[in-house]
Amino acid sequence: MRIIVVGGGVIGLLTALECSLAGAEVDVVERGTIPNPEATSYDRHRVLRALHPGPAEAAAAVEAHHRWAEVESRLRTVVYHRVGALTVRGPGEPEASQAAFAELPGALRLDEDEITARYPQLRLPRGSRAVLERDGGVLLADRILAGAAEVLAARPGVRLLPGHQVTGVEAPFGLVRLADGTVLRGDAVVVAAGPWSRELLAPEFSGGLTLYRQTQLMCAVPPSLRGLWERTPAIPSLGTAEGAWLVPPVGGAPLKLSAAVACRPAERTGDRTAPREVRARLVRHFASLLSGFRAEWIERAEDSYYLADRETHGPVLGQLGDANAWIYAACGGSSFKFAPLIARSLAGRALGTGPRVPTGLTAVDHPVRMPGELSLAASLHHSTTGVAP
Ligand SMILES: Cc1cc2nc3c(=O)[nH]c(=O)nc-3n(C[C@H](O)[C@H](O)[C@H](O)COP(=O)(O)OP(=O)(O)OC[C@H]3O[C@@H](n4cnc5c(N)ncnc54)[C@H](O)[C@@H]3O)c2cc1C
Repeated sequence: MRIIVVGGGVIGLLTALECSLAGAEVDVVERGTIPNPEATSYDRHRVLRALHPGPAEAAAAVEAHHRWAEVESRLRTVVYHRVGALTVRGPGEPEASQAAFAELPGALRLDEDEITARYPQLRLPRGSRAVLERDGGVLLADRILAGAAEVLAARPGVRLLPGHQVTGVEAPFGLVRLADGTVLRGDAVVVAAGPWSRELLAPEFSGGLTLYRQTQLMCAVPPSLRGLWERTPAIPSLGTAEGAWLVPPVGGAPLKLSAAVACRPAERTGDRTAPREVRARLVRHFASLLSGFRAEWIERAEDSYYLADRETHGPVLGQLGDANAWIYAACGGSSFKFAPLIARSLAGRALGTGPRVPTGLTAVDHPVRMPGELSLAASLHHSTTGVAP
């Protein structure tokens, strides 16, 4: 059986690995290098935490924690730093629900004094509370992509095809058309083209997706504070009205700072220069939140993109017609941590073994039906949003 995977981001590479481990032949087609520094997945790190508003998602994230340990042993390199994850609630914010909290093994609730005693580098709003997940942490994203590409390259039956843009998919025939005129044929097709999947979809589907652009500050912590910061958990919420969050400097990665206010809808992908006013807003905000923080810590400010469903703000999985062809049309803002579960589910569908165990992620377990053909040309013709460079 031959599976064609389009896209060399975390979803495409882990899906290809699952298919290959199950004995399939796999082609991975990527328009850039593998990995591609332009991909949404390509960053120094990503947060893995289990606390979510719904217990099903929380349970899925606990499962993802175990699956990442498996991925780590397959890649034979350290890609997961279990420094914990701290979710802070500001004074006006509701507590984490008991049902969601109950899903988190070994988690602790902390009051304001306990947070201050443990993390003197944080200056949080008065009345903040937090949930500390000792099992959460930081995934080294670029190492995961490079490690997966290396393992795939060495597997028999796997072809990595960098530098090939897919211009069309004819799902009923398992055909994938490349920009140079080559046509690949597979028994199943999985498209995980990140923010660029919008360009392959017909306007009635791409119109239901929103492209987001997020600014992040990459910081070098002064040597005297490095030990303190390396022991800091990932903090997906600092409990502020601006929605501040940070990722600690583990595994040689920088301290990363950002906030919900630094994420806004965008017309198109491409420009990665952080606007001066967004950067300045982040600097002002973090100067009030982190003791000793100075703008001089910033090594670079960078923008990146992701695509999300307009209504749910989450991911979208589509089946192309009634063929064995799938498109992870939007990843939302948290697919990295779930990637091993999503990849196993996609591989199960492509291999025809089915998604034996539901992931607990509604969008992944209940794909929507989409037209059986994808075409860059059709999208160019109809779409007003343009095409990524
Ligand atoms: C700032 C930011 C912070 C985030 N933080 C977190 C976090 O802490 N935790 C978390 O779980 N998630 C997080 N996410 C979301 C997460 O990074 C994404 O959900 C995930 O990386 C998406 O992976 P992907 O493989 O679907 O897409 P991508 O990584 O974008 O991969 C798609 C690939 O397809 C290729 N491609 C596109 N079109 C074509 C074509 N026509 N032909 C061939 N190749 C093509 C692209 O070049 C690219 O390499 C964050 C996202 C952003 C932007």
